[in-house]
Amino acid sequence: MKIVLASRNKHKIEEWQATLGKYVDGVEILSLDEVGIYGDIEENGETFAENALIKARVAAKSGYMGVGEDSGLSVNVLGGEPGIYSARYAGEHGNDRKNNELLLSKLSDKTDRSASFVCTIACVLPDNIEGGELFVGKTYGEIINEYRGNNGFGYDPIFYVESMDKTFAEMSGEEKNAISHRGKAIELFAEWLKNLKN
Ligand code: IMP
Repeated sequence: MKIVLASRNKHKIEEWQATLGKYVDGVEILSLDEVGIYGDIEENGETFAENALIKARVAAKSGYMGVGEDSGLSVNVLGGEPGIYSARYAGEHGNDRKNNELLLSKLSDKTDRSASFVCTIACVLPDNIEGGELFVGKTYGEIINEYRGNNGFGYDPIFYVESMDKTFAEMSGEEKNAISHRGKAIELFAEWLKNLKN
């Protein structure tokens, strides 16, 4: 079975192939480039789900099952910020250091540091482009006031998970995958996919 993931990031495609492949036999993850879909996708949704669906619909135009993923950090005392703006919270897309600094400054006088990482996966079938299934994974933690650990990316060094007594950046890839928002959402998607195949 071929699935098109709405991404051009080789690392992400490989990560999906490895994670989903563990749950479902015979799945092949293709990137947008591999199915000849080029150009930027305008992610103008207002929620993770809307953005994930926008991406999945583009991928499904390939004629294969299309999958889109949108994820980010949601901080309770900030009303869910940075949310869908996680990648460009401080203005510049993908500047992790600036994003972390901005978040810590906004939390400097706050005692409630609770937050969650959210990953929403949308899956769209090519014969039902307007339809779609959603799978949501969450990990709860808190934003600490220092940087701990060197692994991962984004907000990982300041996201502390009590059950592990580690930040995401202090976990190995395997440890993080087992409890992460993305790992959980992919597992839910895999369950659904297995049923579809049977
Ligand atoms: P994307 O939807 O996977 O591209 O993620 C959007 C943004 O959310 C990233 O650029 C990060 O800032 C943040 N983010 C999502 N997942 C993680 C994670 O596992 N660790 C740290 N930051 C994350």
